[in-house]
Amino acid sequence: MRILVTGGAGFIGSHLVDRLVEMGHEVVVVDNLSTGRREYVNRGARLVVRDLKDPGWGEGIGAVDAVFHFAANPEVRVSSTEPRIHFDENVSATFNVLEWARKSGAKAVVFASSSTVYGEAAVLPTPEDAPIAPISVYGAAKAAGEVLCGAYGRLYGVRCLALRYANIVGPRLRHGAIYDFIMKLKRNPEVLEVLGDGTQTKSYLHVRDAVEATLAAWRRFMEDDKPFLALNVGNRDAASVKDIAAAVARAMGLSPKLVFRPATPDGRGWPGDVKTMLLSIERITQYASWSPTMGSKEAVERTASQLVEELAS
Ligand code: NAD
Repeated sequence: MRILVTGGAGFIGSHLVDRLVEMGHEVVVVDNLSTGRREYVNRGARLVVRDLKDPGWGEGIGAVDAVFHFAANPEVRVSSTEPRIHFDENVSATFNVLEWARKSGAKAVVFASSSTVYGEAAVLPTPEDAPIAPISVYGAAKAAGEVLCGAYGRLYGVRCLALRYANIVGPRLRHGAIYDFIMKLKRNPEVLEVLGDGTQTKSYLHVRDAVEATLAAWRRFMEDDKPFLALNVGNRDAASVKDIAAAVARAMGLSPKLVFRPATPDGRGWPGDVKTMLLSIERITQYASWSPTMGSKEAVERTASQLVEELAS
């Protein structure tokens, strides 16, 4: 198949492209390289450097069978202070992708959504039919993207699979707590500043598992006829920010003093930070016959070692 991956020079997108190329698909990557890296793009794929905020971004790309829309600004914290960036990068850009999909006749879009659409969920593990009530502009932008995708599926036949990812970690990750802690400890090995009170507890999934989940769900969705489907992609367990700090310190062979910086009276890292996140993965395990191969703590520990090595030079 001919497949377009937006954000294919970024963390999750580049791992996904590696697998799609390995499976024999013809892959076109569109990325503006704002955070993505040219060298992450598999040599078997074609990289087109374009900005999805430009409505004419898709000119000359040619027809594709499926679009994996993974380009975004994934920094939840930025969305609290710079909401317009998130509207532009995560809502406008998604609209431009859907418009291109409609006009070019693409039959399916896989949309990288997020656990943040649930906000502070009342039910844990959170199932897909829980209320959509984001507490960050990032989460709101992802929810808006899903709603647009659903309408394009029902109205124009551009079928949409929205995958609500938990925290995904692994090689090439350049944002989030693991990466931040490594960079801070490189600057000062004695003290580690932790955003929040360290008790924030969330589900982490290794990117290898996340890519297999994505492909398994997509394959099954292609045999289906639903115009829209949302699936959680996460782990059955969770890890705390304190666990992450300990894993990073261990991977670097350090014993720093932890200094906690809660941004809110209830210990969040920043306004809009969800304190506890655990997704129910019952739907995807049944629908796509997929299960994670490693738990949250193992995914965090492995990533800490992998990134320490990757960032050594
Ligand atoms: P990333 O920042 O590594 O990758 C995003 C890519 O999109 C980058 O290569 C960047 O250059 C590109 N990009 C950004 N804006 C663009 C634009 N306007 N035009 C073209 N390219 C653009 O992020 P990631 O962690 O790989 O996340 C991939 C997707 O998964 C995102 O949609 C993100 O919101 C979603 N997601 C990620 C996580 C996670 O834990 N990493 C969790 C939930 C959802």
